[in-house]
Amino acid sequence: MPTPPTYADVEAAAERIHGHAHRTPVLTSRRVDAEIGASVFFKCENFQRMGAFKFRGAFNALSRFDDEQRRAGVITFSSGNHAQAIALSANILGIPATIVMPHDAPASKLAATRGYGAKIVEYDRYSQDREELGRALATGQGMTLIPPYDHADVIAGQGTATKELIEEVGELDALFVCLGGGGLLSGAALATRALSPACRIYGVEPEAGDDGLRSFRTGSIVHIDTPVTIADGAQTQHLGELTFDIIRREVDDIYTATDDELVDAMRVFATTLKIVVEPTGCLAFAAVRRLASELSGQRVGVIVSGGNVDLDRYVALLSRSDQESVTGSASTPNTKDSLR
Ligand SMILES: *Cc1c(COP(=O)(O)O)cnc(C)c1O
Repeated sequence: MPTPPTYADVEAAAERIHGHAHRTPVLTSRRVDAEIGASVFFKCENFQRMGAFKFRGAFNALSRFDDEQRRAGVITFSSGNHAQAIALSANILGIPATIVMPHDAPASKLAATRGYGAKIVEYDRYSQDREELGRALATGQGMTLIPPYDHADVIAGQGTATKELIEEVGELDALFVCLGGGGLLSGAALATRALSPACRIYGVEPEAGDDGLRSFRTGSIVHIDTPVTIADGAQTQHLGELTFDIIRREVDDIYTATDDELVDAMRVFATTLKIVVEPTGCLAFAAVRRLASELSGQRVGVIVSGGNVDLDRYVALLSRSDQESVTGSASTPNTKDSLR
């Protein structure tokens, strides 16, 4: 395993992305605070460049390329936001980029990635192994592979979102972070342990893809089939070696959220905070809503990870009635017993 990043790497990343990444706003809402019974601070990475926190890790990683790497270019595989983040960062830094993307990725994500000037290689996410495909292309053409989460520079870059949050609002009692492959969560853990050591750190993943929870419980990385969930940014099949190493050491627990809970959270974001958040970006807040009774009177951080969702899909998700389950399965009761 390569050397895991530390908080010093998060600080170095913050300097590298300064002036390129946005320092995103932290939103609060009296209505949300009243609903949860806590002080909730939303770090809004839906306002980040290209619409998600992934710009932080991608730009940090590409900034460290030497001349030879810059000439040969970067390659990555991604379900969307990491692709756009690499494409935009490469564009800014003048590095050629190749992206291995699922052919059924949201149209807006495919279009945005192409729009940043990257070359796209499409694959079938249910039958082909994107990591193998990416590695084969990288070796064949001398390009540097920057994976979406299991990379020290990516993790360190993602950690800057939490660094900014805690520097802005002060120490927290609990921090909730969406969990896919764990780049955002492990980076958040590094920043939190340095800046708010007593804060409890929770990852939140889609209920249909609870490999992170099972890995956390069993102590070794669990692999699953691509989960079927509206949280397309967290349809990962397993945690990374580096991310799992940090998560098992620093994270307090992992929760899950159902697709219905994500839609409910999305609705609150739209109506109360007036912000567009993609389904994956709703994971952390969905868990906070479910756990409200345990968070009473606390200072709670929520990372809102991104806002990239096709408008048609957004409207369709929001206009479903509460009774109608978004995945077609029966909706699970919202009780504490069904927490995991
Ligand atoms: C990638 C992504 C995640 C998950 O991040 P990981 O680092 O893979 O855990 C969550 N939300 C959004 C919007 C994303 O793009």
